[in-house]
Amino acid sequence: MFNQVTIIGLGLIGGSLGLAIRRKRLARRVIGVSRKPSTLRRATRIGAIDEGSTDLRRAVSGAELVILATPVDLIVSYAKRIAPWLQPGSLISDVGSTKATIVQALEHRLPRPVAFVGTHPLAGSERRGIDAASATLFDGSLCVVTKAAATNPQALARVRRLWSRIAGRAVVMSPREHDQALAAVSHLPHLVAFCLMGATNHGALMLAPRSFLDATRVAKSDPDLWDDIFLTNRIALARALRQFQRQLDRTKTLLSRADRAGLRRFLKHTHALRLTL
Ligand code: NAP
Repeated sequence: MFNQVTIIGLGLIGGSLGLAIRRKRLARRVIGVSRKPSTLRRATRIGAIDEGSTDLRRAVSGAELVILATPVDLIVSYAKRIAPWLQPGSLISDVGSTKATIVQALEHRLPRPVAFVGTHPLAGSERRGIDAASATLFDGSLCVVTKAAATNPQALARVRRLWSRIAGRAVVMSPREHDQALAAVSHLPHLVAFCLMGATNHGALMLAPRSFLDATRVAKSDPDLWDDIFLTNRIALARALRQFQRQLDRTKTLLSRADRAGLRRFLKHTHALRLTL
């Protein structure tokens, strides 16, 4: 599908992407960029990249597609920095977990012949770094590809085809729709997991059963990655928090009134919803 793909940021997502692209033969060459030679050596050894470089300009020259897989707050500055070095007709894409801020900052602002298409693969884990990368991370998953007013249709189609091959399914939606949905199903649950940890005293933690470990697994996620995600999607996240607060208030009232019938109705309803997933 591509002659050269360059991936900037070889962590869990960037490394897994390199492995998947090479395994599925979706590019003739995959070049990786990291700040650390040790990451490049490791990425080459596991087969995530054909070649690595710490020299950004060298690594992107000749790339038909550059994928930014760094923490969210670095994506816009990297895209702006590399765009002037790319050939006309090249594509820049990203895998950041929030989309509106990134897409708005990039779509109108890159040199004309370089197109930007945002994506968010809905696969991952709380682990990080190249050692967590896996060739099968995206198998059977879904990738959101964003379409905004200025998205180039040919570029969108190419990126969507790439992700259909990598993940199996790629859906197109606006950056705003993406951010609102992800606030509810990803960002809020992560925040709740961090809050659960904050709300539980040390003595109780010693007794934590499996259910507590399951409910707080994502509080093991990297704080440096998640502060960006929370802040860049804070408006949608605040709305999701208000909805969650209403559920908490409702249960609090049911408990304070010892309303068994009401509590049972609430639990049956939410239990049935969970069973539909
Ligand atoms: P990660 O494992 O921590 O990898 C991040 C990579 O970015 C590392 O390879 C690191 O490379 C590089 N990096 C970090 N700080 C940098 C800096 N200041 N300058 C240059 N490079 C830097 O994180 P990840 O989970 O792969 O996340 C990467 C992106 O994917 C994020 O935008 C995230 O929102 C998105 N995403 C994550 C998940 C998930 O479940 N984790 C799922 C979907 C999308 P070196 O230290 O080797 O230079």
